[in-house]
Amino acid sequence: MPIRVLPPEVAGKIAAGEVVERPASVVKELLENSIDAGATDIRVEIREGGRRLIRVADNGSGIPDGEVALAFARHATSKLNDVEDLDRIATLGFRGEALASIASVSQVTVLTRPRAQAMGQLLRVDGGKVVHQEGRGSPAGTVVTVEHLFRSVPARLKFLRQPQTETGHIHTVISRYALAYPEIRFLLTADSRQTFQSSGSGKLYDVLIAVYGLDVAEKTIEVSSARESGTEDDMARETSVRPLCQVNGYTSTPALHRANRTYITFFVNQRWIQDRSLAHAVAQAYHTLLPVGRHPLAVLLLDTDPAEVDVNVHPTKREVKFRDGRSVFSAVQSAVRHALIDRAPVPVMAHSPRTWPAPEWERRQSLISAGQGEQDPAQLAMELYRPDDQPLVGPVRLPLLRVVGQVGQTYIVAEGPQGMYLIDQHAAHERILYEEMMAEHEEQAVTSQTLLEPLHLDLDPALAGQLGEHLPFLNQVGFSVEPFGGSSYLVRAVPSILVVPDIRTALVDILELLRQGDDPLAAQAEVHLIAAVCKRAAIKAGQTLTGEEMQKLVRQLEQCESPRTCPHGRPTVLHFSVEQLEKEFGRR
Ligand code: ADP
Ligand code: MG
Repeated sequence: MPIRVLPPEVAGKIAAGEVVERPASVVKELLENSIDAGATDIRVEIREGGRRLIRVADNGSGIPDGEVALAFARHATSKLNDVEDLDRIATLGFRGEALASIASVSQVTVLTRPRAQAMGQLLRVDGGKVVHQEGRGSPAGTVVTVEHLFRSVPARLKFLRQPQTETGHIHTVISRYALAYPEIRFLLTADSRQTFQSSGSGKLYDVLIAVYGLDVAEKTIEVSSARESGTEDDMARETSVRPLCQVNGYTSTPALHRANRTYITFFVNQRWIQDRSLAHAVAQAYHTLLPVGRHPLAVLLLDTDPAEVDVNVHPTKREVKFRDGRSVFSAVQSAVRHALIDRAPVPVMAHSPRTWPAPEWERRQSLISAGQGEQDPAQLAMELYRPDDQPLVGPVRLPLLRVVGQVGQTYIVAEGPQGMYLIDQHAAHERILYEEMMAEHEEQAVTSQTLLEPLHLDLDPALAGQLGEHLPFLNQVGFSVEPFGGSSYLVRAVPSILVVPDIRTALVDILELLRQGDDPLAAQAEVHLIAAVCKRAAIKAGQTLTGEEMQKLVRQLEQCESPRTCPHGRPTVLHFSVEQLEKEFGRR
């Protein structure tokens, strides 16, 4: 084919793909426009996860009569004049692409009126073309309604998840902007039900409560880089230079932690961004304060000169580049560390070295310790296969191993006929639990434990969506969970292996794992779920194990069908052959 310039509709749809990935992206762009327009009250309404309808109403500046249609042209913006402006962007938008992109993949209606104008304008755009415009009475501000998103883009439509899940993503976006703009009142109504509201009081702490609940908010401490080096007066006296980057917000005390880093949220000049390196800076600040594999919750607002940061690196503006990334990294790290040292209660390591989450283990452990007292681990190891012990059943796919000891509270060192073996205790236990639970599941006999008192879970809509989607499967694998109105659920029973002290956190972790896995194959949903439950129930890295515990683990692993990988495919065992060792030591 000869080279041709693409027709504008085709080019438009290609470009739209970058900006509008799912309903939540539309909400994000419309929110940014409302915020840029100086709104103090922003109301979002969605239907069917936004697929059917997204409406964002604000009390901002409105769009003047003659410019309404122009707002939908590609690269049409009121926020940039010349190329120098790009170096000091103070608005959230500047690319002039959002309305054009959204309109090219949906039907958009705008009703808008600047305060100074008597009459408003109504404009309807369908598939990127203006199909109707008329004067209309309207309140001051702007209402943008987006209907039938992606109806003309079946490829995208196919990738949308269930409405509850998309609603969850939208909730996340709105709550993030609410955190960045405590002075703005945000409201979300999903299918006629109000699911989120911030007060607009101007206090970040109030929004923190609205987003995460009082329980969580109470376990956070304030971060403020200004206070770090004394009072602001002191600072003004000592130095006239403002620090490169101010860091304010809240971060969790060591008593509160989560299974992944998605609860660390950053804003740079009130723009929500994602930055792995900064998340790492926060993690470093918690060094040794949290159990291995757990992550803090934090909401951190960074303020810096707009010239110090390039926001024009990605069409969705979700990533930014700092001119001096290292200083920003250390500003974040030291602000959080200082907050922890100054304000957090004395940290207590949240693990006791000898607990095993699985009741099966506790039972066996007590069987062993009964009557045997403290024994030399090596001695015990030699007795690993005493004939009066439980008989081995099923195929043994690992050789018989003798446990030598533990390294870094994470790996078990063992000896076998072929040399040395290193076993990842978490991955191995995960594999063991997974095979047990899968076998029970196939027999439709997952052992389940009824809770003494039903557990009332009040989830944020994102997690509630996740739970709703998996409800049938949860109830097939040993849970008994029922809807309790809105985003609430009642948990009456859990799989026996999940009888851990904090079932609420365990369930939230599992929902998080499922969200990350995001496997669209419904046929695999139970397998997915079982893997998530086992991951949560398995012993963690960083746990000291006794000789008996290690032996039991190794022996159970030997009996597994596929002992060499965890359910997620990571290796459970590394093998160093005798030959390899001899070679390394120069014996051969
Ligand atoms: P950008 O935000 O990058 O300028 P958009 O396509 O999102 O590009 O919007 C185009 C223009 O339409 C904006 O520059 C602004 O002038 C106007 N506009 C969009 N939404 C609103 C709103 N809610 N209130 C006032 N003006 C708006
Ligand atoms: Mg915009």
